[in-house]
Amino acid sequence: MPIYLDLPLVIDTQGKDVYLFLIELKDVPGALEKLTNVIAENNIDIRSTILIPSVEKIGTGHALMYMDFNRSNITPQKLSRKIKELDVVLNVDYEAPKYGNYIVNTFSFPLGVMRERAVIFRVDWLRNLFKRFEKKFGSGGKTFLFYMGLEGGRSAAAEIREKTKLTGKELVEAILKMLQALGHGIFKIEKCDLEKLEIIITAKELYECLPSNKDIDEGSQFFRGYLSGVLTEAFKQDLVAMEVKCISRGDQYCEFHAQKTKYTKWLS
Ligand SMILES: [Zn+2]
Repeated sequence: MPIYLDLPLVIDTQGKDVYLFLIELKDVPGALEKLTNVIAENNIDIRSTILIPSVEKIGTGHALMYMDFNRSNITPQKLSRKIKELDVVLNVDYEAPKYGNYIVNTFSFPLGVMRERAVIFRVDWLRNLFKRFEKKFGSGGKTFLFYMGLEGGRSAAAEIREKTKLTGKELVEAILKMLQALGHGIFKIEKCDLEKLEIIITAKELYECLPSNKDIDEGSQFFRGYLSGVLTEAFKQDLVAMEVKCISRGDQYCEFHAQKTKYTKWLS
């Protein structure tokens, strides 16, 4: 099973003695080892860390480190000074809890994936937004979400095809793996026989279908549209993904089957 990746961007400290450090390092071999040695010598636990080469300055990088001082006798100010004495360190800054128990990472902006700007929405917020939209606008709302997804899937597939030169099943697989990396769900192509038109894709823990409200069990519209767009673009024919199993209806996973359709009037 893949691991849970919890990014240290907004941290609930739960009252513990923890801090978020940003350390600018020279991009030289052994720099990280020197840094972690100082941290370990002072009995500090690194709860999580992100290492990123600097986009702004050549030859430097940043370590964003969420550290626990619970077992240490040193203060964050003193640790900061010790780290700064290292010849591989250019700068050190840290954030303490400021808003109740929360530490908010204000060291970075914007966020990026593949050098494209990205934003993070919480799944419960996004899912409830979709579901409220469907409830308010009924079948028109569902159709709107489906076509929003369809356009997104088509343009994503066209872009990834251009960048990777992949087509067909390989292109679909690449996009599904990228979606997993971005936290949408865990996807698998179970069958892909274009001649018989047997294309079956399963999704575990698809964010759009996670059950939260017992009176809503309609399955996915946005993702179903997105997948339809990816399949249409990858196989160069109008395909629609039908959701035959769904976690929102008590199934173990969501399952999509492709069918032929005609989008001509919508996509002109
Ligand atoms: Zn579903």
